[in-house]
Amino acid sequence: MIIDAHAHIGGMLLNGKENTVDALIAHMDEYGIDKAILFPILPLPLARPDVLELARNKGFRNDLVFSAVKKFPERLFGIYCVNPRNPEEVSSIDDTIRDKGVVALKIHPFLHGFKPQSSVPEVIVEKCIENKMPLYIHSGPGASPLEIGQLADRYPEVNFIIGHMGECVEHVFECVMVASQSKNVFFETSCLIPACIKIGVAIIGPERFVFGSECPTGSHYSVELPKYDVIGLDTEEKELIFHKNAAQLFNL
Ligand SMILES: [Zn+2]
Repeated sequence: MIIDAHAHIGGMLLNGKENTVDALIAHMDEYGIDKAILFPILPLPLARPDVLELARNKGFRNDLVFSAVKKFPERLFGIYCVNPRNPEEVSSIDDTIRDKGVVALKIHPFLHGFKPQSSVPEVIVEKCIENKMPLYIHSGPGASPLEIGQLADRYPEVNFIIGHMGECVEHVFECVMVASQSKNVFFETSCLIPACIKIGVAIIGPERFVFGSECPTGSHYSVELPKYDVIGLDTEEKELIFHKNAAQLFNL
């Protein structure tokens, strides 16, 4: 059993073709992925000069996530990406996610223009508490694991998922510090070099990790899955990272 904790619907496949729900399911079938947590894309193309404005004001294509989940409710589960600085979007969360197969909320600090440790995302964390959902936070430059950890420390009752584990080698060591301080923080591993995953799992422990792919728009199963073959994990560690932890976190 493999659960992909970070797949995308909409946008373009890496070969330039349209990423439809049928294309995504075909990718999952080819690589033995049983279930996927679906993330919305930005209103592409990224090369548009107004892409940041689009992301902030019009939001991510959550609608594509909802329709995909509706078509394959046994295999696909939704992430709702919300801009905490958009009051209309925030106030619509409860009605928007009802009966839509949404299993977590997501915030994107640098695209929406705030720091994770500020008070800005607190309104979304409160929604996670109300809806008993984890909060996925895109991490990387501008939203480091230590900064996300500061937010997580204020809400021990919420599970936080640090997306891409900080996106670089330096941030892996921040993840190690955060993990030791905050037991409610988990790590998703897409787009990392294998050494980052190996170091993180060895020091932090496999119980805090979920496999994610960023497939099929940003990375690919043919790239992300083999990383786990070369870092020498045992069967029990793989079971935790590939499905048991995600099933528990997302209540699947
Ligand atoms: Zn992504």
